[in-house]
Amino acid sequence: MSKDRVLPEILGISATSLSAWSRCPRLYLNSYVLGTPRSDSSGSPDFGTFVHALMHQIHTTGSCHDSEHVRDVLEGYGADTGVVPSMIERHAERCPSENALMGRHEHQLARFYPGAPRFIASGRLDAIWRLDGVLEVRDYKTGGKATERVADDERARLQAWLAAPIASRLNLSLRVRYEHLAAEIDDEPDVFEPGPEELEEIQEELCATVAAIRVAGQAISTGGFPGVADAAICQRCDYRSICPDSATPGVPTWPEPPEEDST
Ligand code: SF4
Ligand SMILES: [Zn+2]
Repeated sequence: MSKDRVLPEILGISATSLSAWSRCPRLYLNSYVLGTPRSDSSGSPDFGTFVHALMHQIHTTGSCHDSEHVRDVLEGYGADTGVVPSMIERHAERCPSENALMGRHEHQLARFYPGAPRFIASGRLDAIWRLDGVLEVRDYKTGGKATERVADDERARLQAWLAAPIASRLNLSLRVRYEHLAAEIDDEPDVFEPGPEELEEIQEELCATVAAIRVAGQAISTGGFPGVADAAICQRCDYRSICPDSATPGVPTWPEPPEEDST
């Protein structure tokens, strides 16, 4: 039996779990090993998730180039005013859906790595297109621009590794592109077009990360998952009020039970 019993035999990884690990090992422990309930909710509805759901609906029931269809979907979601209509309009100008041979939105992928250490990576691609000899993975962004080069983002690197077997099977090259939907961002980060060597590098990075998580799992009783105690990171952490290493302690905001009706 494996020594690090707190972790499964085959570790599951995703963009969010890798991001948690790289921000703070203790955050990873709370979220992905212990499943600790979050003590600090951001409180705001997830706008990005909402826009992604809209994009999925628009593309699976019609076309983003059909303004009547788009209006119907937006009205159905109560999103026909505010910033969302202009985001969809902006997307339609750059959407290749009608020229693509294959196009899917919200496409879930998983890939098993059978070597050592074994792991299964999974992720949801916002869109995947087959265009002129290229398999293009597209990630819609509703927030600000976080990188100048898609190649520098670990999320994009994981997406590339996940999509690589499809590109290889179809004899296509691979591209990961970010599409910012907000009007104020007009210069997109450089696309990522990894070749075989860079895909190999990504695989090595993933193996190294999984190996490091395994080492932490073996040392869980002796502080294998230390907290970073960094105010810039802790202030956005969902465990900042209950974490002993928090640099920004506060009062937990657990969900409250509904008040009893006195009538
Ligand atoms: S509060 Fe800070 S140290 Fe604690 S888990 Fe969160 S990021 Fe890590
Ligand atoms: Zn589209």
